[in-house]
Amino acid sequence: MLTADQLIDLEELIVEELARIRAESEGSGEEREAIAPDVSIGRLSRLDAMQMQEVAKEAQRRREERLALLEVALDQLDEGTYGRCSRCGEDIDFERLKVSPEATHCSSCA
Ligand SMILES: [Zn+2]
Repeated sequence: MLTADQLIDLEELIVEELARIRAESEGSGEEREAIAPDVSIGRLSRLDAMQMQEVAKEAQRRREERLALLEVALDQLDEGTYGRCSRCGEDIDFERLKVSPEATHCSSCA
């Protein structure tokens, strides 16, 4: 069972992480505009630009996924159901939650 202090620590971690990821998402929007297709660049550069866009899109998809998980974690904190393994129902280690506060499984079920 997590102590109140540990829960406060984890809530801070989650809130900071959410803010960081949101800031990153905004930053990547500007980057996408910076590599907008330019008719004067050669085929290879265009391919590079397309690949970079794919990479940026994939990174953005991962960020959105992580945001969703962190928001769920915040809801669970509010409801008092945070930190329980969704598979076996055991408490998830504080150490594990500190590394990934969005973890939904304990280390044996992950
Ligand atoms: Zn478990």
